[in-house]
Formats: sequence, structure tokens, C-alpha cells
Amino acid sequence: MRINLEDKIFETISLAAVELNIKAFVVGGFVRDSIIGRNSKDIDIVAVGSGIELARTVAKLLGIKKVAVFKTYGTAQINVGDVDIEFVGARKESYDRNSRKPIVENGSLSDDQLRRDFTINALAISLSKEDYGLVLDPFNGLSDIENRIIRTPLEPGITFSDDPLRMIRAIRFASQLGFEIYDETYKAISVNAERLKIVSSERIIDEFNKILLSPKPSVGIEMLEETGLLELFFPQLIHLKGVENVEGKMHKDNFAHTLQVVDQISLISFDLWLRWSALLHDIGKPATKHFNKENGWTFHGHEVVGAKMVEEIFRKLRLPLNEKLKYVQKMVNLHLRPIALVHEVVTDSAVRRLLFEAGENIEDLMQLAEADITSKNEKKVKLYLSNFKLVRKKLKEVEEKDRIRNMQPPVTGEEIMHIFNLPPCKIVGDLKNEIKDAILDGLVANEREAVLQYLFQIARDKGIEPVTI
Ligand code: ATP
Ligand code: MG
Repeated sequence: MRINLEDKIFETISLAAVELNIKAFVVGGFVRDSIIGRNSKDIDIVAVGSGIELARTVAKLLGIKKVAVFKTYGTAQINVGDVDIEFVGARKESYDRNSRKPIVENGSLSDDQLRRDFTINALAISLSKEDYGLVLDPFNGLSDIENRIIRTPLEPGITFSDDPLRMIRAIRFASQLGFEIYDETYKAISVNAERLKIVSSERIIDEFNKILLSPKPSVGIEMLEETGLLELFFPQLIHLKGVENVEGKMHKDNFAHTLQVVDQISLISFDLWLRWSALLHDIGKPATKHFNKENGWTFHGHEVVGAKMVEEIFRKLRLPLNEKLKYVQKMVNLHLRPIALVHEVVTDSAVRRLLFEAGENIEDLMQLAEADITSKNEKKVKLYLSNFKLVRKKLKEVEEKDRIRNMQPPVTGEEIMHIFNLPPCKIVGDLKNEIKDAILDGLVANEREAVLQYLFQIARDKGIEPVTI
């Protein structure tokens, strides 16, 4: 097979290789994706010689100033527009079972292909003049692409034991590309699962996020569960599993439900953090599960307990502890609110409160709440969804009227202190809260003059008079 590499980038790399009198190849994900017909922005180049020298020469020919060199790894990287190109010298790796780090030596292209994780990732395209564009395929990666199979080039036990992250990568590629994992390869994952313990959380979460971003994340997450990998790095999800039956009353399996919600949200959103919110929305259920005769199974307060668990999970998994964390906490905390509106008579006041608390994330929250409907009863699902339409309509009407979503306090704490000559104290906070509640309850219009009048009135009730206006 020959690939048409007409792009100027590849022709330049080819020229640079001639200049240095070495051979260069395109390898890895880019080759796989161009055969599949998938877009891919990162290009990996292997030089049989110095990758760093090749990168410098390519940069010179293209008039690019910046070459990022990582001497310890023998790699270099340049950007051409939004294309990221990484250069490395061909290497041979050998692993010692007791160490995580391989012994690395310079090697041939074959050595380099042999150290790669899967046959579909071990393809190389020649950039040499004499066979430009020729695909070098020592492990039948092309036929595995055609048959949609993930398989290790070596005996899978060796590949996985050498670098146990590859077990999660196998599942990631299966989930991302919709490929099957070859039977022997899949069995070797369960056998070697425990080895995952030597892999850093940072590497694991990168792959897990790619699973979560795949078209149907449940495919990958179910495999992680079945092979025993999930338990090792994400036990909280495993605790969602199972159905209990007391006196003939059962609750649903929250693991299966959660995966269905994640799949449903993934049909309408590519946002990683909304998908995380779906994954964690019921994480507080095991801790809040109760049974009593009148009500059967209940999970009271699971949204509050769940939101509290999010930080610990993010910390352990090395996810960012910034506004992304806050967003997921907020979504978990509020996930029941839209459905509660469906059950109640929808008052303006309840709608305003939801708008206020969800703020700019109201649309995401509505999407999560809709994805949370997983009943097998189609009639019920239809009814809920049409009720949600009404809630959305109401949200729109109230927002247009009252502009609550991005509500800034019409009178600030500073102003309150100034008007009544108060030091920073609890009273100021109380007055602010009362104003907020009055706006949300529709007692006062969300505008400055009306709010000021209201402020004087509630202050007077507390025996506080303004000093300056
Ligand atoms: P993506 O589309 O996610 O970038 P990719 O296949 O390019 O997919 P990378 O993680 O960018 O994946 O790795 C580039 C290439 O390096 C892979 O195609 C594979 O050949 C090799 N590789 C990466 N990680 C490993 C590993 N842990 N073990 C062996 N080979 C690996
Ligand atoms: Mg890549």
C-alpha cells in the first residue's frame, strides 16, 4: 500500500532527511488515522538517526524559528500552523520486570515498530525518495484496521506487563474507534490488570478522558469494569453497581443507569466536563441508600453527598482542581432541580431560583436532567421530555422578563455599608440575602430603584436608618 503524501510538510521532511543522509518515516496515530480516514493533527516522525537534528533541519527549511528540544528523551517538536510534529530517533526498548522505565538504545525502524503498543499503531510510511509513501507493515496492522481489531504485536502478556498503561490504551482505542479487542489480547488484560498499580494517575486519566470523549463511552467503561481495571483506579464507580431486593422491592442498578446517562449526554455534547458531570451525577447514591417499608428505597441528599465527593475523586485522579471542578460539583448538586420542577406546579419563583443557581450553566443542566431520564417505559420518557419542554419555555419567559441568569446584586454590600454607615458585619449579609430572596420570589423587580426602596423598608424593620443618600 502507498499513501499519497503530497503535503509540503512531508516533502520537506523528506528533503531534510536527504540533507542529513538518514531515513525518516511517519509513524503511529497519524498513519493509522489517515488509513481509517480520520482527522489527526499530530504527526509523529521517526528518524533512523537523530530526531533532534532532523527537526532542526526541517525547521530551517520551513523558516520556523522555534524548535522545542527534549534532550533527555531525544525528541524534538515543531509547530507548522496548527499541526504539531514530533521527531524522535528510532529506538529499541527492553524492559526489566522490576522497573517501570525501559532501557532505551538506538535502533532500526523494525526495533521501533516492535516497541509500539498495537499492530494498528505500528505502521510506518517511508519518506525516502526511492519508496516515498510506501506503508511498512510488519505485524499486519493494515488487515487489523480493515477488520477493526486491536491486537498487540508481541505476546500480549509481555506488552502489557512492560507498560501496563497499554491495557487502558487498548480499551481506549476500542471505544474511540469502535474496534474489537482481539480475544487473546483482551484476556491478557484481565490477567495483568493488577500491574496497573505501577502506572501514574496522570497517564491513566489522559486515557480515561479519551474514553469519556469517545462516541459511546459506556463501551470503554464497561470493558474497564469487566477486566478489573476500573476498580483499581476508580472504585467509587464500582460502588454504584448492583441491585438490592428487600421484600420484593428493588432499586435500579446505578452503574448501568450512570453509563446510560453518559451515553445519552454524549449524543448531544462533546464537552468533557458535562460528560464528567453525567458520570458523577449519582456518585452519592451508595452512601445515602436507605430502605423503609413505606417508601421502599430512597437516596435522600445524594446530590449533596455526591457533590462533596467530587473533589476527592478529582484529587485522586489528578483532574484539575479549578473552575472545572466547581462546574462538576455544581452540576451534581443541582442535577435533580429541573426534574423537581416537572413534578411541581411550575411557579415563577421556583424558575427564578433555578436560573439564579445554575446561572450561565442552565442549558447544560437542562441537558443533564434530560439525559438522566432512562426509564424503559417509553410513554413515561415521552411525558417527561414534553414536560421538560414546558420547563424550558418557562425558563425562557422568566429570563426574558427578569434577567436572573447573570444577576448581579442591584445594590452591593459596599453600598449598603455606606448608606447605613455599617462596618462589615452579619447585618450587611442578611440585608443582601433578603434582597436576593425578594427578587427571586418576585416581591421586588430586579431593578435598582425598586431594590433601594425595598432595602430602606427592611432596614427600617430592623431599626436601621440611612445616614447618607
Ligand atoms: P491519539 O490520536 O490519541 O494521539 P496516537 O496513536 O497518536 O493516538 P499517542 O499517545 O499520541 O497515540 O502515541 C503515538 C504513538 O506512539 C502510538 O500510535 C504508538 O505507536 C506509540 N505509543 C504511544 N504510547 C505507547 C505506549 N504506552 N506503548 C507503546 N507504544 C506507544
Ligand atoms: Mg498522537
